[in-house]
Amino acid sequence: MKVKVAINGYGTIGKRVADAVRLQEDMEVVGVTKTKPDFEARLAVERGYKLYVAIPENVNRFEEAGIEISGTINDLLAECDVVVDCSPGKVGASNKPLYEKAGVKAIFQGGEKKDVAEVSFSTLANYDAAIGKDFVRVVSCNTTGLSRLLATVRRAGNIRKVRATMLRRVVDPKEDKKGLVNGIMPDPVRLPSHHGPDVQTVMPDINIITTAFKVPTTLMHVHAVSIEMPEVNADDVLAILENEPRLMLVSAEEGFTSTARIIEYARELRMRYDLFENVIWKESVAYNDGELFVTQAIHQESIVVPENVDAIRAMFELADKEESIRKTNKSLGIA
Ligand code: NAD
Repeated sequence: MKVKVAINGYGTIGKRVADAVRLQEDMEVVGVTKTKPDFEARLAVERGYKLYVAIPENVNRFEEAGIEISGTINDLLAECDVVVDCSPGKVGASNKPLYEKAGVKAIFQGGEKKDVAEVSFSTLANYDAAIGKDFVRVVSCNTTGLSRLLATVRRAGNIRKVRATMLRRVVDPKEDKKGLVNGIMPDPVRLPSHHGPDVQTVMPDINIITTAFKVPTTLMHVHAVSIEMPEVNADDVLAILENEPRLMLVSAEEGFTSTARIIEYARELRMRYDLFENVIWKESVAYNDGELFVTQAIHQESIVVPENVDAIRAMFELADKEESIRKTNKSLGIA
């Protein structure tokens, strides 16, 4: 029997998670929600998803707009085994009582505080922690990028300390109400940033301090990471990174000179130019005087999609870590 999955909030993350769940043989999308009858609501129906109204008072607006609906969020919750909450940050916590009342499991996203769920989740770091759980939070795009990298580097040796600087895309490409046109903004100004503690929600033993800046781009985040670890060989680390499918190694020599070039490649590769993998510059991987250096780019809109699929498998004990990773990777074309 397939696990019945509902997506509450068919936005940037929600539509990608819906499409990814649809590709799995052990789960199915029973419906998605929208708050307003906009073009994305119309698209959801055209793509064959049953559409439900996230805010029941808005039902009339959908009817007036001629968009076919199958009911409200309450009707959808009666149909599903698990809801993937993809509503805007902090809204998920206010939706939680609905899920508890309906007696369904729920996955929350990284915009929520960690206490919204029993466990924070990132597949490579702590898949087993989500096994059988009812409420799981998939950590944010930056935290997923850092956690995947550190969980993989750890295979090469003990990590003593991590220092990372994050250049964050200011908004997603669809945004027209906010942004930073000309400037580099320390965010936060008071250091460190919240990303280090967030990594510790999935890898509690990692000593990590992060700083972050917003920069005027919408394409990807870039992380400059320094990892203090006992003597390792950069080539050995490179081989380990190359062997991990959720990381993609690229080379400046081959033309990947910036996030713009990486996205140009992704436009040829995937729908919506999604890059589910951390993109690591090969030439950046170097070891010097006790520190390993790595620079990576993270496609914020899609990086957490595989983790949401894996989280469902862990919560319903459908597969162990390796099997879930294999199935998710194969379905999403992660080679
Ligand atoms: P989004 O604004 O693109 O989509 C949110 C969707 O939820 C919209 O369709 C909105 O109409 C809907 N919504 C609003 N109120 C709702 C409610 N009460 N109930 C249900 N749906 C509601 O946002 P997003 O970028 O997809 O972010 C969703 C979550 O994912 C946030 O927690 C965010 O922090 C996290 N996240 C975002 C990114 C990213 O870069 N976009 C990356 C990783 C994690």
